[in-house]
Amino acid sequence: MVHEEIEELKALVNPSEILTPESKEFKEHTLPFAKQKHRNPGLVVRPSTIDSLSKVIAFLAKSSLDFKIRSRGFGSASARDIIVSMTAFDNFDFDRENETLTLGCGQSWRDYYEKMEQIAPEYTGLLCGGFSWLSGEYGAASDPANLLDIQVVKLDGTIIWASEEPDLLWAMRETEGAFAVAVNFKMRCFKYPEKVWSGPILLPNTTEACKQICTGIVGMDTRSIHPRVALFLYRMAPDILKAIGDGGVGALKYTQTMYWNPIALPKLTETILMNSFEWYGKTQTAAEGALRNSSNLLFELFCCTDAANRLASGWPRPVGFRHMVFLRAGAPTEGPLDDLAKNFVTEGPKEIFGPDARLEVTANGLEPFYDPKEVFGENYEKLLQLKREYDPKNRLRTPLRA
Ligand SMILES: Cc1cc2nc3c(=O)[nH]c(=O)nc-3n(C[C@H](O)[C@H](O)[C@H](O)COP(=O)(O)OP(=O)(O)OC[C@H]3O[C@@H](n4cnc5c(N)ncnc54)[C@H](O)[C@@H]3O)c2cc1C
Repeated sequence: MVHEEIEELKALVNPSEILTPESKEFKEHTLPFAKQKHRNPGLVVRPSTIDSLSKVIAFLAKSSLDFKIRSRGFGSASARDIIVSMTAFDNFDFDRENETLTLGCGQSWRDYYEKMEQIAPEYTGLLCGGFSWLSGEYGAASDPANLLDIQVVKLDGTIIWASEEPDLLWAMRETEGAFAVAVNFKMRCFKYPEKVWSGPILLPNTTEACKQICTGIVGMDTRSIHPRVALFLYRMAPDILKAIGDGGVGALKYTQTMYWNPIALPKLTETILMNSFEWYGKTQTAAEGALRNSSNLLFELFCCTDAANRLASGWPRPVGFRHMVFLRAGAPTEGPLDDLAKNFVTEGPKEIFGPDARLEVTANGLEPFYDPKEVFGENYEKLLQLKREYDPKNRLRTPLRA
C-alpha cells in the first residue's frame, strides 16, 4: 500500500521535484536539528509551484503515508515516509509604499537579510524569528501587528489567504503549522536605525563573576530600560561557542539529541539566576563530563513585551512576559546518556523555580513531554475546535490534536 501510494505521489509531480536518498541534497532536506527526532523518511517532495504543492497536500492528506511539512528543519520536522520540503518557496516582494513584504516561507533569515540589504537596507528591521533582538520593542513576529496575512494551502488542496477565514489566521499564529501549509507570509516592515551598538562580553566561569552577573541583570530588570536594549546570556562549553561563532547555530544541526525547555518569565531574581547556573554546572560534570558539549543554558533577556491583546494569537502570550530561559541538554547518541540529558531538562525547572512553580513555555518548539492543554491555556478549546475543522485526523502531526 505504502509503495503504491508513493508511486502515485511521484506521478503527480515533475521528476525534478522528487529527491530520493541517493540524491546529494537529500540530507540537507531531511536531517532534523535534534537527532532523536529523525524518522528516516524515504522520499522528499519539493514542490516548485503552489499548484504542485496543492496537488501534493490534497493527495497526502487522504493517503495513509506519514508525512511532515519542513521548511528549514530547526524545529526538527521529520517523517517516516515523506518530507514535503518548502525550500523552493523563495518569494521576496517588497512593497515600499505600504511597508510590507511578502516572503516565501522556505527561506532562512540569512536569505532575508541578504535580499533586503540589496533593495532596502533601511528596512532590515523586519522582525527576525518568532522572538528576536527586536521583540522587546515590537513583540513576536507572529503578532497581528507584524504578521498581516499568510497564504496557505489547506488540506483539501485549496489555496487561500488565511485572512479570508479569520479564525484560521488567528489559529496559525504560534502553533507551528497545525492547521494548514503556509506558503507566503505578508509581513509589516519597519525602518530601523542602521547604527546598532552590540558586542559579546566574555566572562570567566568563576563564582564571583556569576554573582556579579546576577546582581547586574537583576539591577537592569528592576529599572525601566529602553525597549531597544536586549541581552543574551549564554552558558556553554567553549568548543560549542566556537562552532557557533564559525558556522552559526546551524553548525549544531544533527550533531546530538536535544531537549529543551523554553520558559517565559516576567521577572528575574538572583535565586533564579544562581539556581540556573547550578543546574548548568551539574550538566557539565554529570557522567564524567559526557554531556558537556551538548548541554547549555541560554537567557534571552528583555526580549519580549506584552501583546496588545494576549489572546490575539493561537498561543496566549503570558502577562508581563519579558525574558526567556532555555534549559537545553542532549547527548551524542541515544541511550543512557540521552536519558540523563532528557531528565536534566524535564526536572531542571523544579530545581530552579521550585516544585510547585507554574511555568509558561513558549510554543516555538514543543517537546512531546509538554501538555498542549497547559501550553495553549485559554485558547486550547477553540484551537481544538478549529483543528477538527481543518485537520481532524492530525495529518500535519502536531502536538495540537483534535
Ligand atoms: C538552535 C535554535 C535556535 C532557535 N532560535 C530561535 C529564536 O531565536 N527565536 C525563535 O522564535 N525561535 C527560535 N528557534 C525555534 C524555531 O524558530 C522553531 O523551531 C521554528 O518552528 C523552526 O522553523 P523551521 O522552518 O526551521 O523548522 P521545521 O523543522 O522545518 O518546522 C517546524 C514545524 O513547523 C512546521 N512547518 C514548517 N514549515 C511549515 C509550513 N510552511 N507550513 C506549515 N507548517 C510548517 C513543521 O511541520 C514542524 O511542525 C530556534 C530553534 C533552534 C533549534
